Amino acid sequence: MVAVLKQGASKEQIENLIAWLENRGFRVHISTGEYQTILGLIGDTSKIDTELLESLEMVESVKRITEPFKSANRKFHPNDTVVDIGGVKIGGSNFQIIAGPCSVESPEQILAIAEKVSAAGAALLRGGAFKPRTSPYDFQGMGPDGIELLLEMKKKTGMPIVTEIMNTNHLPLFENIDVIQVGARNMQNFELLKELGMTRKPILLKRGLANTMKELLMSAEYIMAGGNSNIILCERGIRTFETYTRNTLDISAVPMLRELTHLPVIVDPSHAVGIARFVEPMSLSAVAAGADGLMIEVHNDPANALCDGAQSLTPEQFAVMAEKVRRVREALK
Ligand code: PEP
Ligand code: MN
Repeated sequence: MVAVLKQGASKEQIENLIAWLENRGFRVHISTGEYQTILGLIGDTSKIDTELLESLEMVESVKRITEPFKSANRKFHPNDTVVDIGGVKIGGSNFQIIAGPCSVESPEQILAIAEKVSAAGAALLRGGAFKPRTSPYDFQGMGPDGIELLLEMKKKTGMPIVTEIMNTNHLPLFENIDVIQVGARNMQNFELLKELGMTRKPILLKRGLANTMKELLMSAEYIMAGGNSNIILCERGIRTFETYTRNTLDISAVPMLRELTHLPVIVDPSHAVGIARFVEPMSLSAVAAGADGLMIEVHNDPANALCDGAQSLTPEQFAVMAEKVRRVREALK
């Protein structure tokens, strides 16, 4: 980190500032120019409050040289993290598709979908039991019964289960769940992230609707600070001025995040675009951009789905898409 001091900073002010920084455990490299003094801070600057430093009277500006995320940073961990979900691996050269309905609705519904997406090549089954809905009057999910149905599907199909947590009190219900999803709306629920950091469960961390990539990485850092580095990042579209699509899929986040972090990066085109017929082209784009996986909403009867029917593929459409994904991956080899 570099602090540029104001031209008029007195010798005494500079000495006091250096003493203050050294007291905080930093070594300070002083560069005295004709007009300006620049301080180079050496040490773990991830814990320093840059705004506080910048607010000091003799400081003109502060610039970070390294990012504030350490554990998630590829600079310090050059090799790709591979998240192992009971033998199903994501990251490195391992690509996986997670598929299933937005919400678990009934035993018949989840079974009809699980068997078909598995046959079409999805390695993991998704389904919401606790749903973060914009309106309190909309279907809120089946809750614990939904978790039970998902675990039955795991027994039947052997597919690991991905489902969303919204409340730390629900953690005991997720004991046998394979991947805990943190949805876009909870990306910055720091208490939830801290609790999940104490577990060793794989976490699927979705980017918030209006969050930067840096904020997503800082949220991953919260989980990693607790000792859990089993994290899969998910780009799911961000809110822009565009209204024809539900969100705007930030494809550029895929290569950018893969450069910034060693954590696997997957894409959820369903929530990004919100329109079933565009899920396939967005999936192929994500694969071409280097995504480590996809998460796709699939429903056996999209017109009557209790949640997100408009963006859900039928199992048959999913099978066609999965085959095209395979062909794009083949072409990229
Ligand atoms: C979901 O995956 O069901 C979901 C609610 O997604 P998001 O948090 O990205 O909106
Ligand atoms: Mn959904």
